[in-house]
Amino acid sequence: MPKRPKRATIDALFSQVIRERDNYTCRICFGNFRHDPGRLDCAHSIGRSRGSVRWDMDNAFALCRRCHNDIDQRPLDHIEFVRKELGEERYEALKVKARELLKMTDRDRIELAAHFRETLKAYRVRRANGEIGRLE
Ligand SMILES: [Zn+2]
Repeated sequence: MPKRPKRATIDALFSQVIRERDNYTCRICFGNFRHDPGRLDCAHSIGRSRGSVRWDMDNAFALCRRCHNDIDQRPLDHIEFVRKELGEERYEALKVKARELLKMTDRDRIELAAHFRETLKAYRVRRANGEIGRLE
């Protein structure tokens, strides 16, 4: 069995998945950062300290550093942004999930890392085939 992946390893994979899903485009200003990905954050809506939603794809969006800092200063706008992105139902489900306690075994972590690697690979195939915009 492979080794239990570190949290930082899964964070890095998750960040790549989110940014690729969003086409390396900031969800607020729609600036494209594919050629400057270091300036595009994988921005969590509910803080990463909530383990149960740390790697939930509904809990993160690609935001440029500037929009990320800006929206973090405006909590009400932040909520509105997330509600608009997810729709009411998914937003409510995310809030419920955020209150749950996360228990991940070594195997869960290994499977999650593998899942994100596969997702990233699939997204890249879709990009290579010419798909643009946000991937669902
Ligand atoms: Zn932006």
